[in-house]
Amino acid sequence: MTTVRRLTEDMINRIAAGEVVERPASVVKELVENAIDAGAKRVEIVTAGGGASLIRVTDDGGGMTHDDLGLAIDRHCTSKLVDDLLDIRTLGFRGEALASIGSVARLSIASRHASEPHGWEIVVEGGLVHPPRPAGLNSGTRVEVTDLFFSTPARLKFLKGERAEASAVTDIVKRLAMAHPEVRFSLTGSDRGAIDYPVAHGDEPFVERLGQILSQDFVDNSLAIEAEREGIRLSGYAGLPTYNRANGLQQFLFVNGRPVRDKLLMGALRAGYADVMSRDRHPVAALRIDLEPHGVDVNVHPAKSDVRFRDPGLVRGLIVGALRNAIHQAGHRSATTGGG
Ligand code: ADP
Ligand code: MG
Repeated sequence: MTTVRRLTEDMINRIAAGEVVERPASVVKELVENAIDAGAKRVEIVTAGGGASLIRVTDDGGGMTHDDLGLAIDRHCTSKLVDDLLDIRTLGFRGEALASIGSVARLSIASRHASEPHGWEIVVEGGLVHPPRPAGLNSGTRVEVTDLFFSTPARLKFLKGERAEASAVTDIVKRLAMAHPEVRFSLTGSDRGAIDYPVAHGDEPFVERLGQILSQDFVDNSLAIEAEREGIRLSGYAGLPTYNRANGLQQFLFVNGRPVRDKLLMGALRAGYADVMSRDRHPVAALRIDLEPHGVDVNVHPAKSDVRFRDPGLVRGLIVGALRNAIHQAGHRSATTGGG
């Protein structure tokens, strides 16, 4: 005999959290995306224990009112509501991250909106919400996540060592920082010491940020990539064939300002170098695709790192063609600057 019963809200949140919050790096990603959506110009990230014991993200964005703060931690509550899931212009839209994080960790959010005389702080512990209380905070938002997965011990067991988790955090911060050179990012507690990427002020903020993140050496040994077809724009930098790596970790791909790990894009990158690089080597590249939102579906997976293009063949052809062109034009000159 079975009886059909409705899951409790808390259980629904924990199940959803399994998809959104896989590891500390996914929490960092969600919090930083929220800061960027809030218009932050400065995002400060502090972690401890690879992010498993502490993640604190502080931003100088618009902040939240008392009432918004109370709603923000509820599932399916968002200020980024869209009528059309194919017209998404913000990084978030699902209204799921904070509720998910709050159900599997201790979450504290302090925020102040300019319209209110002081800030507020709300605490959620393993799904249990404490009412907001006044907080001393001048502007922006500070989110603190401690004891990740304390309420879901099975998940906790799947975390890798502190170093591996810290390295995943560093990687996602780099990717988000690359996508947003207009924002200053800092990260402490990473596996590679403190990181600080000041705002890129020059004429070419993206390449300036690449220099900060990937080294000037990459910039000096890469080709500028620029192409457009049917409203789909490709831009960025791709390493000379001689500037290659043993793995693909130095491949940074963005779609409409969102870091993605998309098979189609990675395959196109590889194909662009197929004639000039052996199978066991991998190109270094930072490529951005920008297109009108209807040309791409970002609602494929809760983590939003997969995308579906309306015309995958067009996107692939654009990338492969532009890479081959740039590599061809650079000839076999070694270590030349710019080019393309
Ligand atoms: P989503 O980003 O999909 O809307 P989240 O659960 O990540 O869902 O956040 C819920 C809401 O909380 C957001 O829509 C936003 O209004 C608010 N919020 C979250 N983080 C911030 C922040 N750093 N600054 C201002 N508002 C925020
Ligand atoms: Mg969000």
